[in-house]
Amino acid sequence: MIIDFHAHLVSEKFMADLRNGRFAPTVTIEVGSGRTPSTAKVGAGEKWDVMVVKEAASPNESRSFLPRQAVDVEIRLEHMKNTGVEMQILSHLTAMSFYTLDAGVGGELAAALNDGLADLARRMPDKFASMAGVPLQDPPAAAAELERAVGLGHIGVKIGSNVRGLNLNDRSFDVFWDKAVSLDVPVFIHPGDIIGSRDRMKDFHLNNLLANPLDTSIAAACLIFGGVFDRFPNLKVVLAHLGGFIPWIRGRLQQGYLERDEPKECGSKAPETYMDKFYYDTVIHNADCMEFAVKTLGADQILYGTDCPWNIGNLEPAREIPGLSRLSNEEQDKILLGNVKRLYKI
Ligand SMILES: [Zn+2]
Repeated sequence: MIIDFHAHLVSEKFMADLRNGRFAPTVTIEVGSGRTPSTAKVGAGEKWDVMVVKEAASPNESRSFLPRQAVDVEIRLEHMKNTGVEMQILSHLTAMSFYTLDAGVGGELAAALNDGLADLARRMPDKFASMAGVPLQDPPAAAAELERAVGLGHIGVKIGSNVRGLNLNDRSFDVFWDKAVSLDVPVFIHPGDIIGSRDRMKDFHLNNLLANPLDTSIAAACLIFGGVFDRFPNLKVVLAHLGGFIPWIRGRLQQGYLERDEPKECGSKAPETYMDKFYYDTVIHNADCMEFAVKTLGADQILYGTDCPWNIGNLEPAREIPGLSRLSNEEQDKILLGNVKRLYKI
């Protein structure tokens, strides 16, 4: 059996809510037109949805491509069959974190998303489990929604790598970390609202290729230096895209801690002390890097996760992801199944 823990889906029920104007005018759906988006495969002549989100008290408006592959359960089951994946732990699309909205509507949207995924996991328990989304722009409300969602059957929670530009070590988030620890659910940190996306990262798709792993790295470094693991030693954190740059620049973080005062400002210990607090997915697309990650982070810390349905993810068959075949059978078994079962208690 193979389980993919990093897979995004939005329920048909939630899409129906959007189409019916439940969250209008804040969040609405339009039919896509013009150049075919390239973030997932869209057949020739096919129409697609675009989600339009109007930020509170600002003229800003974001538009996100929603391919059928992100909604249609039959397409997803076919993809899973073709890639040898028996189960996915579903989480919401990152564009649906809604941190830029007022907390009230953000909370309603998170609850509606969570209800939809929990319902799907209940109806198809041998194919899907789910992790919750929470309105982290209001940390006490996020903690309350996490508790409600776990009651519905969610087995983890996915959050952004920052919240409206606020790093995750901010003390206001402690109420949320505390709840995740007391419920004993892993927190999956996924890049969103990334640094530099309107600046030098806007060309060449760098906002995805470089800024995504950079924002994840900032989040991880802030959890370490900001003392979050000292305040919550039992917190379990999973980092998207093989931890961004963390596995490769950990020595630099350590050296900076040893040589400078700033990294010690919150009283944290040396970064190497915390490396085993993190778990990582397998989205790296390079056999040497995968081999290096397993060797340096340990096979117990890495979980098969694909970023399905996005095409910067691992959409090939599970056993063919680069580097996996170089590992021992025992290591492969841990990455494809053992670790996710242990961490998410499946
Ligand atoms: Zn993802």
